[in-house]
Amino acid sequence: MIDFELLPTEKSTVELAHEIAQNLFRPISRYYDEHEHEDPWDLFDTMWNLRLKGSLTAVGIGAALMVQELCWGDAGLYSAIPTPGLGGAAVRAAGTPEQRRHFLARFTNGKPKWGAMAMTEPGCGSDTAAIQATAVRDGDYWVLNGEKIFVTMGHRALDLSDGFIVVWATVDKAAGRAGIKSFVVEAGTPGMKVEKLEKKLGIKASDTATVVFENCRIPLNNILGKAEIKTKAEGFKGAMATFDITRPVIAAQALGVARAALDLLKEELDKKGIEIRYDLAHNRQTALEHDFMEMESNWRAAHLLMLRAMWQLQGRTPNALEASMAKAKAGRAATLITQKAVELMGPLGYSRKLLFEKFMRDAKINDIFEGTGQINMLIVARRVLGFTRDQLK
Ligand SMILES: Cc1cc2nc3c(=O)[nH]c(=O)nc-3n(C[C@H](O)[C@H](O)[C@H](O)COP(=O)(O)OP(=O)(O)OC[C@H]3O[C@@H](n4cnc5c(N)ncnc54)[C@H](O)[C@@H]3O)c2cc1C
Repeated sequence: MIDFELLPTEKSTVELAHEIAQNLFRPISRYYDEHEHEDPWDLFDTMWNLRLKGSLTAVGIGAALMVQELCWGDAGLYSAIPTPGLGGAAVRAAGTPEQRRHFLARFTNGKPKWGAMAMTEPGCGSDTAAIQATAVRDGDYWVLNGEKIFVTMGHRALDLSDGFIVVWATVDKAAGRAGIKSFVVEAGTPGMKVEKLEKKLGIKASDTATVVFENCRIPLNNILGKAEIKTKAEGFKGAMATFDITRPVIAAQALGVARAALDLLKEELDKKGIEIRYDLAHNRQTALEHDFMEMESNWRAAHLLMLRAMWQLQGRTPNALEASMAKAKAGRAATLITQKAVELMGPLGYSRKLLFEKFMRDAKINDIFEGTGQINMLIVARRVLGFTRDQLK
């Protein structure tokens, strides 16, 4: 039976996340939107020292709802807080118990740290088979070469802390997807350099880096999963398992921003004395009432898909299809809801006086990273219709 009920401890942590979002994130939201690449150290230290830190690295409905609440506060600041991030998800999904202990233990003590994951390259995003970065075995080491772009938290993981980055590289280009493996590179490893930071449309508090590898030598044990090249399907599975964890989390991020836009819209309508009459027949509603209810139902549908994908994850049942469904729906829903909120508020929606325009800019990324909306729809279509990757491109 599907059960989305939270444990009492999870409930109180989700409530705490909302308070943090309201009292710590919102007051500095606009400042860090307008001061891209500045580091909110007070917030980093506070978040690092909070008990919430452990809960954020867990997988399950409670953790996803916490993410949703924090992104209700500010999606950029949420992405910026010190956690193992996408790199941590990759280690959890594909690492051995020993690797998990070794690479993730650092997140429980010392100074704030970040984790990152680098897959995208100048010539490769959606089509992961096109990865050009290489990993060549040399005795007891792997030697990495290549360039990775748009790495979330690359700078903070590698320059500001002793975090790590999980890098996707090929051990054999001729093997295509099967030759692609992921490797953990720790901050301070010679041959790895953060080359530049992107200026972005939204989530500006989150750093997005270009990281270059030149004869970067890492221990043999830093490969996640096995080094052998298996069949096409098997070899790539470990790396892709990361997305079963991260896609529902991105859906939760999208839902947090969209909820923020809906809540603010309701607040502004209340101030103007405009009521949403839920009990009216469809043909008696105003256009605004119709739009608002459509936004609410779109949000709810995406929310249920996210909860289901997370419920499967915490019950350890396969969730790849539902993870993509949740991500595709929530990314699109958040984009449409936040745009509509700007539209319905008129000039006030477009001005920087309120946060509507920021919500619209912050929402869009959820339809891009961790597989674009189109790519996730493609994955859903393949799985529902029973086509292989080669049959439906
Ligand atoms: C702020 C930000 C943070 C990011 N963080 C990370 C990170 O931490 N790590 C990381 O590795 N990457 C990261 N990325 C990169 C992101 O994952 C890629 O941008 C994304 O996967 C798309 O790849 P691409 O940019 O190469 O676009 P392309 O793959 O070139 O796609 C361009 C357009 O074509 C569409 N398209 C492509 N193929 C198909 C198809 N077969 N069918 C239908 N439509 C298709 C896409 O949906 C898209 O709309 C980040 C990007 C941004 C903007």
